[in-house]
Amino acid sequence: MSDEEQLEKLAKQIMVCTKCELHRSRKKAVPGEGPTHTEIMFIGEGPGFNENEQGRPFVGAAGKFLDELLQQAGVTRADVWITNVVKCRPPGNRDPLPNEIEICTSNYLQHQIKIVNPSIIVTLGRFSMGLFFKGAKITQIHGQMRKVEDRFVIAMYHPAAALHQMALKPAIMADFAKLPELLKEARAELGKASPVGKEQKKKEEDEPKQMNLF
Ligand code: URA
Repeated sequence: MSDEEQLEKLAKQIMVCTKCELHRSRKKAVPGEGPTHTEIMFIGEGPGFNENEQGRPFVGAAGKFLDELLQQAGVTRADVWITNVVKCRPPGNRDPLPNEIEICTSNYLQHQIKIVNPSIIVTLGRFSMGLFFKGAKITQIHGQMRKVEDRFVIAMYHPAAALHQMALKPAIMADFAKLPELLKEARAELGKASPVGKEQKKKEEDEPKQMNLF
């Protein structure tokens, strides 16, 4: 099965999942979305009201702010993977429970990460941060990139937190602005070329061959 097919299979399983209580109140599950292989994956907390209606991640007010932050970093939604720790909306937007997080991440998120294989994972908020940095405090580590196994993870404030607490807005904006630089660093450390760099190299390799035809 191709990676694309595996992601689709997971999404189909997520949509009909009944492994935890969250399925009882869900309208639409939100598997996440993005290109099959991408350099950056964002992981939020869980679907809210709008996401539960539409089946897509970050489509409400926090999503609008996320789009602005991405734009500021020179990235568009189409370039990145966006998903959540839990794929179904916790009733009334309550915090996801430890068993819901465990079930959802071990069955779905961990597989999505493995398939998409991003160089950088950006965690948005404390629940996704907690998957990678146990007991860490967001106030202390936000915006810092750390190697976790064979990729890099950056913990950032959740866009919704920054919308509710205006004092956090400059910090989240500054953290996002660092993304292009951190991505270069991650590529260098992991020995990966930028996709644009790869395209350019291929073009340069192809050019002399074409000229030989004449
Ligand atoms: N908040 C999240 O954490 N995820 C979403 O998809 C939307 C809001």
